[in-house]
Amino acid sequence: MEKKELLYEGKAKKVYTTEDPDILIVSYKDDATAFNGLKKGTIVGKGAINNRMTNHIFGLLEKEGVPTHLVKELSDRETAVKKVEIVPLEVIIRNFSAGSFAKKMGMEEGIKFKCPTLEFSYKNDDLGDPFINSYYALALGLATQEEIDAITKYAFKVNEVMQKYFASLNIELIDFKIEFGRYHGQIILADEVSPDTCRLWDKDTHEKLDKDRFRRDLGNVEDAYQEVFRRLGIADRE
Ligand code: ADP
Ligand code: UDP
Repeated sequence: MEKKELLYEGKAKKVYTTEDPDILIVSYKDDATAFNGLKKGTIVGKGAINNRMTNHIFGLLEKEGVPTHLVKELSDRETAVKKVEIVPLEVIIRNFSAGSFAKKMGMEEGIKFKCPTLEFSYKNDDLGDPFINSYYALALGLATQEEIDAITKYAFKVNEVMQKYFASLNIELIDFKIEFGRYHGQIILADEVSPDTCRLWDKDTHEKLDKDRFRRDLGNVEDAYQEVFRRLGIADRE
């Protein structure tokens, strides 16, 4: 499968068309941004790690009944995916307090919730991805009730599968962001699942193994991404 034209260049990935109108190729970059693009940098090796981690986890999710855009990993950084119409909602699931939630609620980070939470942000860089609820999404025509129901069901399933899987790697899944798309009338999981989009803490030491190391200038950013990759056990390609 070959790349044809650059369709879109985002902050972390480039997206190309292919001969097949239903298939895109995503190419993961080492570029890192935070605070809606205000902070910029490079995390060496990140593109390959995020590509391979996303595909590994999407494979596990498919087995558990969550449909995803994954078609085929083409190389370390490139993957063929189903072309979807992205639903402009960032879906955030949280198991522990952290980040914007901790700030908003005046809580310290790392407090376990009685049950997971789900929230939506309107995916709009100009507005800084504002927090919205499902009534806003319906009122603005961002998604239908059926789509919101499917997204909610799949998002909690993704959490269940990922929480269990990361626990087996001695990693606590604190929170994460996912995106869904429309593919021939069906809602499927798209975009990525990586240390860019998840908060991952070592279960024993609570060391942060995710993009917060970059956002907060904590140092050892590359090491943290490599450590997650090492624990996934997919570093050696057969
Ligand atoms: P951003 O747009 O936030 O800077 P990226 O650099 O990750 O993010 O760019 C990838 C873009 O591709 C995102 O806007 C994402 O919503 C979109 N995308 C992800 N998966 C698919 C897909 N299967 N089909 C179409 N678009 C996708
Ligand atoms: N997140 C993301 N992209 C965004 C915003 C958030 O991937 O544009 C992820 C983030 O990595 C974290 C979770 O969503 O795992 C919750 O983020 P939060 O709302 O706490 O925002 P932040 O503190 O990152 O501003």
